[in-house]
Amino acid sequence: MSAAANDTFPRPAATAPAVSLREVRKSYGPLEVLKGVSFDVAPGEVVAVIGASGSGKSTALRCINGLESIQGGSIEVCGHHVGTHLSEAGLRALRQDVGIVFQSYNLFPHLTVEQNVTLAPRRVKRMGNSAARELARDCLAQVGLAEKADAYPEQLSGGQQQRVAIARSLAMQPKVMLFDEVTSALDPHLTGEVLRVMEKLARDGMTMITVTHEMGFARRVANRTIFMRNGLVWEVGGAEMFAQPRTPELRDFLGHEL
Ligand code: ADP
Ligand code: MG
Repeated sequence: MSAAANDTFPRPAATAPAVSLREVRKSYGPLEVLKGVSFDVAPGEVVAVIGASGSGKSTALRCINGLESIQGGSIEVCGHHVGTHLSEAGLRALRQDVGIVFQSYNLFPHLTVEQNVTLAPRRVKRMGNSAARELARDCLAQVGLAEKADAYPEQLSGGQQQRVAIARSLAMQPKVMLFDEVTSALDPHLTGEVLRVMEKLARDGMTMITVTHEMGFARRVANRTIFMRNGLVWEVGGAEMFAQPRTPELRDFLGHEL
């Protein structure tokens, strides 16, 4: 939609995208990693991002929550504007609304599960102990681990630890959740339990962008899938794009993945 059309017919706030990337460019030195990436994610939408290693998927996620600066274009996330410059205060506000979970869960080994989950709400949101504990119990229940509150990370399986990492993110009550290959380090059985937690979050209405190699999850759970290639959004579609890719590059990629 052109700017002029937008001025004439402003969209109601309720339909404004939760996340909007416009011509985002990101370079590491001479290496241009994002070459003008644009896409929108509606509130409550689940978007999967797929593509070969090195295509810029992780970088795109990291730009969305301000872990990386951008050199061109703009990003809007839940009312936060991310341009080429972002203030410390702006960054803090942005990160409170956007949770990110990585492949490596990085729980603190010397803290219990509950202490891992309450750390950020207590430190960043200055939440009192009893409120933080109650919140932690809620978030652990959401990932099916209420009974593990007093356990230490080493007593948990990889899948359980990753679910704690998701609970830790949820405890900041984010409006958008980003997942970067969160099951890649897990064996198939443990992968399933993490994907089920993510599917439940999706059903409960969380806005999610998930970089994944799990094509079944993308096809079944995502409202839309974005195929990235060489720093560009190459193809976007619903579940049908897995059966009927429009570009030879996506067909080739899926041929290797499936
Ligand atoms: P993907 O997640 O799709 O595998 P990435 O976003 O991690 O891709 O990486 C895209 C490209 O950017 C790769 O060529 C990678 O080597 C490069 N890259 C990523 N992070 C850095 C960094 N911190 N410094 C330099 N190059 C990087
Ligand atoms: Mg990556």
